[in-house]
Amino acid sequence: METPARLIVDLGRLDEGRHEHLKGVLARELLELEDLAQVRPAGGLEYDLACELLPENELLVRGTLSLPCACICGRCGGDFEAVFAEQDYCEAFNVAGLERLDLTESVREGIILALPSYPICKEACLGLCPHCGKNLNEGPCACAEGGGASPFAALDQFEPLA
Ligand SMILES: [Zn+2]
Ligand SMILES: [Zn+2]
Repeated sequence: METPARLIVDLGRLDEGRHEHLKGVLARELLELEDLAQVRPAGGLEYDLACELLPENELLVRGTLSLPCACICGRCGGDFEAVFAEQDYCEAFNVAGLERLDLTESVREGIILALPSYPICKEACLGLCPHCGKNLNEGPCACAEGGGASPFAALDQFEPLA
Protein backbone atom coordinates (compact mmCIF):
# COMPACT_ATOMS: atom_id res chain seq x y z
CA MET A 1 0.00 0.00 0.00
CA GLU A 2 1.31 3.43 -0.89
CA THR A 3 1.80 5.93 1.89
CA PRO A 4 -0.20 9.12 1.19
CA ALA A 5 1.97 12.15 0.43
CA ARG A 6 2.37 14.68 3.20
CA LEU A 7 2.15 18.42 2.57
CA ILE A 8 5.74 19.52 2.13
CA VAL A 9 7.13 22.93 1.18
CA ASP A 10 10.37 22.70 -0.79
CA LEU A 11 12.27 25.65 0.64
CA GLY A 12 15.09 25.31 -1.88
CA ARG A 13 12.73 26.60 -4.55
CA LEU A 14 11.72 29.67 -2.57
CA ASP A 15 13.42 33.02 -2.99
CA GLU A 16 12.91 35.78 -0.49
CA GLY A 17 9.93 37.95 -1.33
CA ARG A 18 8.51 35.51 -3.88
CA HIS A 19 5.27 33.64 -3.48
CA GLU A 20 4.95 29.93 -3.92
CA HIS A 21 1.46 28.60 -4.49
CA LEU A 22 0.44 25.26 -3.01
CA LYS A 23 -2.83 23.75 -4.10
CA GLY A 24 -4.01 20.19 -3.76
CA VAL A 25 -5.67 17.57 -1.64
CA LEU A 26 -4.24 15.92 1.44
CA ALA A 27 -5.37 12.31 1.95
CA ARG A 28 -7.83 11.97 4.80
CA GLU A 29 -5.77 9.12 6.31
CA LEU A 30 -3.22 11.76 7.32
CA LEU A 31 -5.77 13.75 9.30
CA GLU A 32 -6.34 11.07 11.96
CA LEU A 33 -9.74 12.37 12.97
CA GLU A 34 -11.26 9.02 13.92
CA ASP A 35 -11.86 10.16 17.48
CA LEU A 36 -14.43 12.75 16.38
CA ALA A 37 -17.56 10.62 16.49
CA GLN A 38 -20.03 13.13 15.02
CA VAL A 39 -17.86 14.57 12.24
CA ARG A 40 -15.91 12.23 9.95
CA PRO A 41 -13.94 13.21 6.84
CA ALA A 42 -15.74 12.10 3.66
CA GLY A 43 -12.80 13.03 1.45
CA GLY A 44 -9.39 14.66 1.51
CA LEU A 45 -8.45 18.05 2.90
CA GLU A 46 -8.34 20.62 0.11
CA TYR A 47 -5.73 23.32 0.55
CA ASP A 48 -5.01 26.48 -1.39
CA LEU A 49 -2.06 28.24 0.20
CA ALA A 50 0.45 30.96 -0.58
CA CYS A 51 3.91 30.63 0.95
CA GLU A 52 6.16 33.64 1.27
CA LEU A 53 9.70 33.71 2.58
CA LEU A 54 10.20 36.78 4.76
CA PRO A 55 13.43 38.20 6.20
CA GLU A 56 14.88 36.45 9.28
CA ASN A 57 14.13 32.99 7.78
CA GLU A 58 10.45 33.30 8.47
CA LEU A 59 8.03 31.48 6.18
CA LEU A 60 4.51 32.87 6.10
CA VAL A 61 1.82 30.46 4.91
CA ARG A 62 -1.75 31.57 4.42
CA GLY A 63 -4.83 30.57 2.51
CA THR A 64 -7.88 28.36 2.75
CA LEU A 65 -8.55 24.81 3.90
CA SER A 66 -11.73 22.82 3.38
CA LEU A 67 -12.89 19.33 4.26
CA PRO A 68 -16.06 17.46 3.20
CA CYS A 69 -17.50 15.57 6.16
CA ALA A 70 -20.14 13.01 6.97
CA CYS A 71 -21.86 14.22 10.13
CA ILE A 72 -24.39 13.11 12.69
CA CYS A 73 -26.80 15.85 13.74
CA GLY A 74 -26.52 16.72 17.43
CA ARG A 75 -30.26 17.46 17.62
CA CYS A 76 -32.04 14.77 15.59
CA GLY A 77 -29.30 12.16 15.16
CA GLY A 78 -29.74 12.18 11.38
CA ASP A 79 -26.86 11.79 8.91
CA PHE A 80 -25.86 14.68 6.71
CA GLU A 81 -22.92 15.87 4.67
CA ALA A 82 -21.27 19.25 4.88
CA VAL A 83 -18.06 20.98 3.83
CA PHE A 84 -16.26 22.85 6.60
CA ALA A 85 -13.68 25.47 5.72
CA GLU A 86 -11.01 27.58 7.32
CA GLN A 87 -10.89 30.75 5.19
CA ASP A 88 -8.08 32.48 7.05
CA TYR A 89 -5.44 29.90 7.73
CA CYS A 90 -2.29 31.87 8.53
CA GLU A 91 0.86 30.54 10.18
CA ALA A 92 4.48 31.64 10.34
CA PHE A 93 7.37 29.19 10.65
CA ASN A 94 11.03 29.66 11.40
CA VAL A 95 12.78 27.75 8.61
CA ALA A 96 16.41 28.61 9.38
CA GLY A 97 18.62 25.76 8.19
CA LEU A 98 15.72 23.73 6.76
CA GLU A 99 15.40 22.48 3.20
CA ARG A 100 11.86 21.22 3.55
CA LEU A 101 9.00 22.09 5.84
CA ASP A 102 6.21 19.63 6.62
CA LEU A 103 2.90 21.50 6.92
CA THR A 104 0.75 18.40 7.44
CA GLU A 105 0.36 18.74 11.20
CA SER A 106 -0.28 22.47 11.01
CA VAL A 107 -3.08 22.26 8.41
CA ARG A 108 -4.54 19.33 10.32
CA GLU A 109 -4.82 21.52 13.40
CA GLY A 110 -6.13 24.37 11.23
CA ILE A 111 -9.05 22.37 9.88
CA ILE A 112 -9.91 20.85 13.27
CA LEU A 113 -10.61 24.39 14.52
CA ALA A 114 -13.13 24.78 11.69
CA LEU A 115 -15.07 21.62 12.57
CA PRO A 116 -18.14 22.00 14.77
CA SER A 117 -18.20 20.06 18.03
CA TYR A 118 -22.00 20.02 17.83
CA PRO A 119 -23.01 19.70 14.16
CA ILE A 120 -26.61 20.54 13.25
CA CYS A 121 -28.14 19.17 10.02
CA LYS A 122 -29.96 22.46 9.41
CA GLU A 123 -30.55 25.63 11.38
CA ALA A 124 -34.27 24.83 11.65
CA CYS A 125 -33.77 21.21 12.74
CA LEU A 126 -36.61 20.34 15.11
CA GLY A 127 -34.73 17.55 16.85
CA LEU A 128 -36.36 14.65 18.68
CA CYS A 129 -39.46 14.76 20.85
CA PRO A 130 -38.22 14.67 24.47
CA HIS A 131 -41.17 12.42 25.37
CA CYS A 132 -41.36 9.75 22.65
CA GLY A 133 -38.09 10.28 20.78
CA LYS A 134 -39.68 10.71 17.35
CA ASN A 135 -37.72 12.75 14.80
CA LEU A 136 -39.92 15.86 14.56
CA ASN A 137 -38.43 16.78 11.15
CA GLU A 138 -40.51 13.90 9.79
CA GLY A 139 -43.74 15.28 11.24
CA PRO A 140 -45.40 15.88 14.61
CA CYS A 141 -45.70 13.02 17.08
CA ALA A 142 -48.74 11.92 19.06
CA CYS A 143 -47.48 13.73 22.19
CA ALA A 144 -48.45 17.06 20.61
CA GLU A 145 -52.15 16.10 20.55
CA GLY A 146 -54.08 17.23 23.61
CA GLY A 147 -50.92 18.21 25.47
CA GLY A 148 -50.69 21.75 26.77
CA ALA A 149 -47.19 22.06 25.31
CA SER A 150 -48.37 21.89 21.70
CA PRO A 151 -47.13 24.81 19.64
CA PHE A 152 -50.61 24.91 18.06
CA ALA A 153 -52.48 25.13 21.38
CA ALA A 154 -52.55 28.92 21.23
CA LEU A 155 -54.47 28.76 17.92
CA ASP A 156 -57.39 27.03 19.68
CA GLN A 157 -58.01 30.15 21.71
CA PHE A 158 -58.61 32.26 18.63
CA GLU A 159 -62.23 33.34 18.40
CA PRO A 160 -63.34 34.38 14.96
CA LEU A 161 -64.57 37.97 14.90
CA ALA A 162 -68.36 38.04 14.68
ZN1 LIG B 1 -31.07 17.46 12.72
ZN1 LIG C 1 -43.53 12.77 21.16
